[in-house]
Amino acid sequence: MVPWNDIDFALLDMDGTLLDRYFDDYFWEEHIPKKYANKNGIPYEKARKKLLAMYKREERTLNWTDVYYWSKRLRLDIVALKEEIRDQVRIHPGVIGFLHFLRDAKKEVILITNAHPKTVQIKLEQTLLLPYFHTILCSSDIGLPKEDLGFWREAQKVLQFDKNRSVFVDDNENVLLAAHTFGIKYVLHKNGGNSHFSDESSDIFEPVRHFTDLIPK
Ligand SMILES: [Mg+2]
Repeated sequence: MVPWNDIDFALLDMDGTLLDRYFDDYFWEEHIPKKYANKNGIPYEKARKKLLAMYKREERTLNWTDVYYWSKRLRLDIVALKEEIRDQVRIHPGVIGFLHFLRDAKKEVILITNAHPKTVQIKLEQTLLLPYFHTILCSSDIGLPKEDLGFWREAQKVLQFDKNRSVFVDDNENVLLAAHTFGIKYVLHKNGGNSHFSDESSDIFEPVRHFTDLIPK
């Protein structure tokens, strides 16, 4: 259980943490390969294999989530394709109640994401979550992904949070490791970031299975 009396800042990841990562996994691993296959007149399986290999090479870089980078590289309008299926974005269960709790408890709520600002805009408009955040920080604002220790040094300078009085929730262990190494005191892993793999967990960090578990009874 998080000692809320000792916490002023709630740092929250978006995709896979507050929102179901199924949308993103489906979008990049199935939807885009289908569009790419159609456009280039190649079989779906071939397109999928090619794209997954291309993604892999950009993991842990800012290109990975840069919708304009992939638009150029794949010659597809990634923003338009995302807009087309935006009604499939889902909030994880318990998130709204948790955000209400943070608001009532007067915590400073900060969205910290590797997602591209355009993606953040589409998703927060779609889910109506925007009003719950005091601040939104995208890793492209800093110029480094969250997996990088340098990201956290810069983020702290920009956001002025007290790392001893902060909790950070993310669904990515590499990101949590960087935040923990930087010194954020309470670091929690969102289990089952993609709801289709709900047993996905961390061997290192305390779990958040359901967001209502974080609200004091
Ligand atoms: Mg995430």
